[in-house]
Amino acid sequence: MAEYKHVTVPKEGERIQIDADNKIQVPDHPILPFIEGDGTGPDIWKASRHVFDEAVKKVYGGKKKIAWMEIYAGEKSLGVYGKDQWLPDETLQAIKEFKVAIKGPLTTPVGGGIRSINVALRQELDLYACVRPVRWFQGVPAPVKEPQKLDVTIFRENTEDVYSGIEFDANTQDAKDLIALIKQKLPKKTLREDSAIGVKPVSAFGSKRLVARAIRYAIEKNLPAVTLVHKGNIMKFTEGGFQRWGYEVAKAEFGDKVITEAEVWEKHNGKRPAGKVMIQDRIADAMFQQLLLRPDEYSVLATLNLNGDYLSDACAAQVGGLGLAPGANIGDKAAVFEATHGTAPKYAGLDKINPGSVILSGVMMFQHLGWDEAADRIIAALSKTISKGTVTYDLARQMEGAREVKCSEFAKYIAEAV
Ligand code: NAP
Repeated sequence: MAEYKHVTVPKEGERIQIDADNKIQVPDHPILPFIEGDGTGPDIWKASRHVFDEAVKKVYGGKKKIAWMEIYAGEKSLGVYGKDQWLPDETLQAIKEFKVAIKGPLTTPVGGGIRSINVALRQELDLYACVRPVRWFQGVPAPVKEPQKLDVTIFRENTEDVYSGIEFDANTQDAKDLIALIKQKLPKKTLREDSAIGVKPVSAFGSKRLVARAIRYAIEKNLPAVTLVHKGNIMKFTEGGFQRWGYEVAKAEFGDKVITEAEVWEKHNGKRPAGKVMIQDRIADAMFQQLLLRPDEYSVLATLNLNGDYLSDACAAQVGGLGLAPGANIGDKAAVFEATHGTAPKYAGLDKINPGSVILSGVMMFQHLGWDEAADRIIAALSKTISKGTVTYDLARQMEGAREVKCSEFAKYIAEAV
């Protein structure tokens, strides 16, 4: 048990444990660390926490209860820990010890220091899967005719590809040395002397653990398919490797719980046998088309970092934008749930902003804890509140006849509807 200087561990709660098989063990009164977030973070957090506590109270009647524990990152952390302490060691230590945390948006420090607190959190805690469920809520204005047809969960690899890419600027000695080396190894390659050079690392280890997590999720949720999205037709060893390793891990770890699309056609006339998750793959550009043309044929997508970056935002836009898009960064030993939008500083302290993204990331957190009933009830309550046209400004300005309410009021209505 670690000693903390500025974190008060609640006496009434217990620690979540992760066993040797990476299975999470959740007590009835788990201690859950939270980071309030910068800018609009305090407004959003207060509203979301109200929904979480009310939902747990109503669903479990006092049997289960969360012991919240504040930890610090971002601007608030500078006040508590001092200059340049954007992400103090204690915060990382607390997430490691308590296993599951939730956070509001954080300011990205400008100049010097760490590049982004969010990226640092993912790297330091090896949160290798960025998980983004994307679905439409009745009443939310969307740019497509049938937004309800899209309901996918994207598993984006969070540690490799462009996240650990290495670049050399054009005309530097390093770039010149690399060009010379490549020409020596591959004399037939034409490489312009003034090229910038990028290195894209993709490993079997990183790809397999990400795909395995996506398949496990599909099996647990009884979903029909996992689609490996890649650009292996062009990048045969990195993106193509991801595809190959994905199929390999599916066969090696999940045996007859899964079936490949090819087998479905060869042996079952194109009809997936009940109870089996179909493993298929799509080239990234075709995937973007498919998500617009036949979105209901897809449920879980597993992909590398850059493809996942584009896909998550494109899917979120398709169902009405990022305001309601939750996210999680999950590893084998810890998980951090978060809003996908930023701090929206111009609305700070105005009790105006939409807390939906943090509320829905809390839903993901409850699902991670196995508290599915609380998760389902919050989703139903949020849907009901939006479909009645009781919404924050961002949705109200696009919805005819909507009644604009404050951030805290929106949360109050959701909590009442749970
Ligand atoms: P932003 O904070 O996401 O805000 C951009 C605009 O998006 C807002 O002005 C608002 O649009 C809309 N918006 C964002 N969140 C909303 C919500 N909850 N409800 C309603 N509308 C919402 O992006 P930014 O201004 O580029 O970034 C501000 C800071 O946040 C930067 O320091 C950035 O680095 C950081 N950031 C953090 C995270 C994170 O912690 N995960 C992610 C992204 C950015 P309207 O003005 O049109 O209403």
